[in-house]
Amino acid sequence: MTSPGKMVVISGPSGAGKSTVCKRILEDPRVQFSVSATTRAKRPGEVDGRDYYFLDKETFRKKVAAGEFLESASVHGNMYGTLRKPVEDAMAAGKHVLLEIDVQGALQLKDQDVPGLHIFIAPPSFEELRRRLVGRATDAPEVIERRLAKAEDEYRERVKYDHVVVNDDLERCVAEVRRLIGLDGPPTGAGGAA
Ligand code: 5GP
Repeated sequence: MTSPGKMVVISGPSGAGKSTVCKRILEDPRVQFSVSATTRAKRPGEVDGRDYYFLDKETFRKKVAAGEFLESASVHGNMYGTLRKPVEDAMAAGKHVLLEIDVQGALQLKDQDVPGLHIFIAPPSFEELRRRLVGRATDAPEVIERRLAKAEDEYRERVKYDHVVVNDDLERCVAEVRRLIGLDGPPTGAGGAA
C-alpha cells in the first residue's frame, strides 16, 4: 500500500518570495502542486487547469455552497480557493500536495483542523520587502503601500504556523523547507503510484 502524502501549506506575505520557494520544492517528483480555483482573469501565458482553474463568480459561489472547497478567500478583490477532491486524491496516491495560498486561507485550514504542515515564508525585514515590491515595478505606489500594510497584518499571524522560515537566502530557505517536509535525500524513487 502507498503511504499517504502530506498536505503542505506554504504562505506568507506577498513579496516574501514564496512562489520562488514553491517552484523549487515542486522540482521534486514526490510533490504535486495544488491547482487553485480563482475568479480573477487569466494572465498572459497562464493555462486553465495548470496554473489555476479559472471560474466565473457564479460557478465559484456554487462550488463554495456545495462544500467543494477546503478553504476559500477573497484576495485583492478576487476569490481564490483550494478544491478538496484533487488534494485528497493526490494524497491518497502517496504524493505530498503543496498549497501556495494566502494567510487567510491557511488559517481557515488550521481552524478546521485539517491535518497538514503549515509553513510561513517570512521576508528578512520590512525594508527588504518594500525594496522587493518596489523592484517588481508592476504596482503603483499606493498599491505597494496597501500590500505592505497587508503584509504587516499577515506577519503577525506567523505564530499560528508550525514553522516560520526566513527567506534571507533562497538556497538555505529551500533546503529548510525540504527538510521540514521530509524530502531530504535524492528526489527520485519515491512518490508511489502517480
Ligand atoms: P495571484 O493572483 O498573483 O496568482 O495570487 C494572489 C494571491 O492569492 C497569492 O498570495 C496566492 O498565494 C493566493 N492564492 C492562490 N491560490 C489560493 C487559494 O486557493 N486559496 C487562497 N486562500 N489563496 C490563494
